[in-house]
This record gives sequence, C-alpha cells and structure tokens, in this order.
Amino acid sequence: MRNFIKQKAKELGFDACGIAEACFLEDDAAFLKHWLSEGNHADMHYLERNFEKRTNPQVLVPGTKSVVVVLLNYFPEKTQPSNAPRIARYAHSEVDYHVVIKQMLAELETCIISNYGENIVNKEAQHSFVDSAPVLERRWAQRAGLGWLGKHTQLIAPGIGSYCFIGVLMLNAEMEYDTPLPDRCGTCTRCIDACPTNALNGKSLDARRCISYQTIENKKSVADDIQSKLSNCALGCDICAEACPWNIKWAKANNNLKLKPVSEIYTFQKAHWQALSNDEFNSIFKKSAIKRAGYNKIKENIGFMSE
Ligand code: SF4
Ligand code: SF4
Repeated sequence: MRNFIKQKAKELGFDACGIAEACFLEDDAAFLKHWLSEGNHADMHYLERNFEKRTNPQVLVPGTKSVVVVLLNYFPEKTQPSNAPRIARYAHSEVDYHVVIKQMLAELETCIISNYGENIVNKEAQHSFVDSAPVLERRWAQRAGLGWLGKHTQLIAPGIGSYCFIGVLMLNAEMEYDTPLPDRCGTCTRCIDACPTNALNGKSLDARRCISYQTIENKKSVADDIQSKLSNCALGCDICAEACPWNIKWAKANNNLKLKPVSEIYTFQKAHWQALSNDEFNSIFKKSAIKRAGYNKIKENIGFMSE
C-alpha cells in the first residue's frame, strides 16, 4: 500500500510523498501550548480553538491510522522586477494553491479507494487537508520523512527546499512508515539574521513581528513598528527563505501547468499597483490566492513603501 500510494502521488504530479503513523503529537502539543500562551499567534485566535483536533489526528478524523503527506514545489521560474512591490512566491499562480492541491489530493484518494475500497477513508469526516484545517502540516511532513523544520520554521525538503505546498490525507489503514530525517541547519543562522523584523528566535516565529502575518492575516493595518521594515513586501514575505542556503542549492522552477503564474506579477511596478482599480484587481486575480488578502489590504501595504 505504501509503495502504491507513493507511486500514484508521483504520477499525479506531486514532488514528494511520505507516510507517518497517526499518533498524538505530544511534544508539539506542549510546544503549541507554550507558543500560544506567549501570544505569538497575534490575532489568529482560530489557532487557540480545536487544540485536541490539531494535535491528535484520531480526534480530528476518527479511525485514522496513517497520515499521507504530499509536497508540491511552487518555486516560479520568473522573478519580479527588482523594485516592484514583492508578492510571496506561493501566491504567484493563477489558481489558488488550495484549489490545485485539493483537486490533486482528491485524485490520489480516488486511486487509493479504487484499489483498497471505500473503507480506507472516513467518509463521515473531512480527511484531506491543505492549509485550511486544524492540522500541523509541517510537523506531519517532518514525521513522514519529507524534510526537517528549519530555524525559519518552514519545512526544508531535500532536493526541493522550502518552496513547497503541503497536502495531507488521512487513511484508516496501517502500513509501513517513513523515518524522520535529521535536522541539517547546524550552526547556520542566515534566516534569523536576514529577517528584517526579528520575528525568528531560532526555535519559533513571532507572528506579531512577521511580515507574512502583517501583510495578509492581520485584518487591521500593518503594526506601526513593522511599517517601515516591510522591505518592499506587499503580500507575504520570502526573505528568510531566500537567505537559506538549502533553497539556494535546491530550489528549482516548477514546470507545473496547474501553477501557471499571473503574468502581471512580473510586469507590474509600484505605479501599476497604485493605479489598479478594484474591478481590475478582481479580474486579474480572480482565481488567485492573492484575493484572500484583498484589494484594500494590498493597496494599503503598498502605501507603506517608501520608494
Ligand atoms: S517571513 Fe519575513 S518577516 Fe516572517 S520570519 Fe521570515 S523574514 Fe521574518
Ligand atoms: S537559513 Fe540556515 S538556519 Fe535558517 S532554515 Fe536555512 S539552513 Fe536552517
């Protein structure tokens, strides 16, 4: 079953697939509790909810025995003009990655069901996930042998780097599991040193100081003490990822047609963004993840830029 799933994941276009035993994440539960108690999650109060489900897959999806984790490389071929407001690479595709991965996971599930029967999944509960449910995707990817969690808190997958989406499928069958990989950050601190807002401390991330949170999730304006440190980031931030030597070594352009980028991202300068109407924004980015942040938020973020 393990080999079948990995083979199908590859055929469907995923860049990597690993499988972990579905167990209570005891260490992660303690870590998460402490991280939340320090207020590192800023206004993302949804992270306080569903604590049991978040740390125990058997509570989230009753009957789960195995957690299948897939990766999809999203590193784009092109780069933005050097002075343009920066859009994090995860959001460059025409179609929102949630939609892309969900469809691919559904195809993988269909293959698995056709070979092993309907009872392999819990049809009563949502059992496939991409960045939208109480699932610690990065931890599961690490447990499934797909990489390690760098000091920038992202998954670093050998041969891919950290520019990858993570999808999760929970199954009701036991199988042979993958072995977690060792941490290969060593004494490196490049991501910590590169972060313009000191959001990283080597073990965790303070979302209150993170440009990604401030430019996307924060429904209010970017915090006063971060506004002057946005480093031209209009939506999200890749600065720590760009500093990582493993990304410099491994990140390669994806050639996935499902992640075809929005062409304007590579032509728009600040003046284009400033002149963009709400209707034009909705037309250009109609299926894009950029729409999740919203027109007003991006325009406001760009307004904080000095040049
Ligand atoms: S995403 Fe940007 S702001 Fe957040 S930790 Fe990385 S470098 Fe710092
Ligand atoms: S920059 Fe260095 S410390 Fe940070 S994630 Fe990469 S290897 Fe690890």
